[in-house]
Amino acid sequence: MSNNLSSLPNQASVVIIGGGMAGLSCAASLARQGVSDVVLLEAKTLAHAQASSFGETRMFREMYSDPVLCKLAQEANRLWREEEVLSGETLRETHGLLFYGESWDEETIEGSIPGARRVMDDQGIPYEALNAGEISARFPLKPKADFTGLFEPTAGAVRSDKVIAHWRKTAEQAGHLLVEHAAVRSLDDDGGGVLLESGQHIAADQVVVACGVWSQLLLAPLGLAPKLEVWPMLWAHYTVDPALADRYPQWFCFQKERGDDGGLYYGFPVLSTTSDGRPRIKAGIDWAPQELRVREPNAMCSEPPARLVELLDHFLFNNVSGIQERVETVISPYSMTSDVNFVLDRLSPKLSLFCGGSGQSFKFAPLIGDSLARLARGESPAVDISCWNHKRAAVCA
Ligand SMILES: Cc1cc2nc3c(=O)[nH]c(=O)nc-3n(C[C@H](O)[C@H](O)[C@H](O)COP(=O)(O)OP(=O)(O)OC[C@H]3O[C@@H](n4cnc5c(N)ncnc54)[C@H](O)[C@@H]3O)c2cc1C
Repeated sequence: MSNNLSSLPNQASVVIIGGGMAGLSCAASLARQGVSDVVLLEAKTLAHAQASSFGETRMFREMYSDPVLCKLAQEANRLWREEEVLSGETLRETHGLLFYGESWDEETIEGSIPGARRVMDDQGIPYEALNAGEISARFPLKPKADFTGLFEPTAGAVRSDKVIAHWRKTAEQAGHLLVEHAAVRSLDDDGGGVLLESGQHIAADQVVVACGVWSQLLLAPLGLAPKLEVWPMLWAHYTVDPALADRYPQWFCFQKERGDDGGLYYGFPVLSTTSDGRPRIKAGIDWAPQELRVREPNAMCSEPPARLVELLDHFLFNNVSGIQERVETVISPYSMTSDVNFVLDRLSPKLSLFCGGSGQSFKFAPLIGDSLARLARGESPAVDISCWNHKRAAVCA
């Protein structure tokens, strides 16, 4: 890791802007594809707490209502397995995922129970269908009597903090320069270079923009900014009854919106403890009220809004058994397109982009990194990711 701006070269094969999931997975893929002479510039620190890749876990699943995303998630899982073999580390934990709740035929930002069931049936993905009694017998959850559930046994959690450390090591071992506190002020008109806030300029054969919710700020002057919203997303850690600690599933609860309660909540099993050794689970809400969504990334609220904290507490204490105390509360941004799908594309001969990762992209990380690296090498992505193109109506500003 270099923090020394004066040691920056004035030319590189590839400059990556952004040190979150997308930038680091791209750097690691370039390393594996034999590309050296790569500089990654991060405005703050790698995977920092105000951006979207911070924290210890992300869900992975193939349980999608959209058959294309389901297939791409299968491809990403194949690449995760390769990545784990190469790294010699377990980067994901497979403990299954329970989708449960109201089963109505309308897609939410995470899909729906009936939609996911149809796609898993079509694609032969194994799952168990559970009713409310079976859910409450098996897990410390309190489903309403009319709730239904689907359990995907091969889903689980990506250990995102471990993965970030792994990509960083892979890139550094390949000789890439990963530079923190190196904010980019602007892109060259042809995309083939960057000007830093420090005044330094780096010319590049290829530039990859991986700035999450901040991507628009760099791309707007070139007329290439996709249409994105920034959603402030609340999550927290709760300590739980040690007697139940090994029974919590990874879950996602679907309920219809009622008043200011968006109805979508999720949680993880116990995967870590507090500093004084108490078992804890991570849980969050998966909607942002309209009035908190913004276009200007730096205008997003940075403190957890009291009403959202109240709703999350209310859900956890009333619907999950053994919840004891909320011990950490965080707001993190979703970079959101209107069709809840990503943007991964070449914008001009020297410029590629990933953004719009919403609450879904971490599970696709090896595919995102591999695709960005191939674009930066002048190739096409290895699989069809045209659903993420930047010219679709949903993202044209
Ligand atoms: C609360 C939450 C829960 C989620 N849960 C899941 C899940 O369960 N499963 C799943 O698959 N996905 C999940 N996701 C989605 C996934 O984590 C994100 O989509 C992904 O991490 C986004 O990564 P990124 O690299 O695009 O953006 P970021 O991580 O935000 O990285 C962008 C980086 O660019 C830097 N930057 C910005 N501007 C500049 C500049 N001008 N110069 C230099 N650097 C700059 C920023 O400082 C930042 O570090 C979740 C996301 C959130 C927020």
